[in-house]
Amino acid sequence: MGKITIAIDGYSSTGKSTIAKRLAATLNYIYVDTGAMYRAVTLFALNHGLITDGQVAADTLIPKLKEIRLKFLPNAETGKSEMYLNGENVEQEIRTMKVSNQVSKVAAVKEVREMLVKIQQEMGKDKGIVMDGRDIGTVVFPDAELKLFMTASPETRAARRYKELLEKGEEVTYPEVLQNVQERDRIDSTRTESPLRKAKDAIEFDNSDMGLEEQFERIHDFAQRVIAKQG
Ligand code: C5P
Repeated sequence: MGKITIAIDGYSSTGKSTIAKRLAATLNYIYVDTGAMYRAVTLFALNHGLITDGQVAADTLIPKLKEIRLKFLPNAETGKSEMYLNGENVEQEIRTMKVSNQVSKVAAVKEVREMLVKIQQEMGKDKGIVMDGRDIGTVVFPDAELKLFMTASPETRAARRYKELLEKGEEVTYPEVLQNVQERDRIDSTRTESPLRKAKDAIEFDNSDMGLEEQFERIHDFAQRVIAKQG
C-alpha cells in the first residue's frame, strides 16, 4: 500500500506529539518531532551565551548554526526517539522551562528555520512519515496527503503541560505555564517567517473536550481512508 505524508500542526501543548507518535507506530511510519529540533537549537544558543535578557543574538547565532549537529536516536530501553545535540543526549533538558521560555524567539530567526526545514524535508523525502510542528502542512510538506491542525483552549493546554512538568519533577506554577503557552502562541502566530496558521486543506481538530482514545480513533480513521485512496 502506498505511503503518505502526514503533517500535524497546531498550538503549543495540543497533544500533537502524543497523537503523532502513536499514529506513526500504528502505521509503521517514521515520527519526527520538529519542536525538539527548534528546542535543541535554543539550548545550543543558551549554552553559548547567545540569549541574554530574553534577546537572541541572531547575528552571532547565524554563523554558528553550521556547528550544530542534530540527531534523533532511539532510547535502548523505551525505543522512543530522543534528541542528540552534537553527540549529547539533550532530551530532558530541551523540555525544561528554561528552553520553553526562549524557543519561540529562536524559531523566529529565518536562518534557523531554513536550516531545519531543509533537514525535515530530507527526512520525509520517501514519505511514510508523521511530522508534527507549526509549519509542516504550510511550508515543510505543502503537498502532504493528510494535514491536521490541532487546537484546544489555552487553559486546557496549560493544565496538560503543567501536569507533565510536575510529573517530571520540574518546579513550576500553573500561571507560569499558562503564560508560557500563550506567549509562545502569540510569537509563533505573529512572526514574519512561516507564522503558525492552518493550511487551507488541513482538518481542524479541537480536542479541548475529547479524550485521547477518541482522538486517536478518529485521526487513525482519517489516515486509513487517505492511505486506501492512494492505492
Ligand atoms: O512542539 P513544541 O512545543 O515542542 O515546539 C517548541 C517551539 O518550537 C514552538 O513554540 C515554536 O516556537 C517552535 N516550532 C516552530 N516550528 C515547528 C516546530 C516548533 O516554530 N515546526
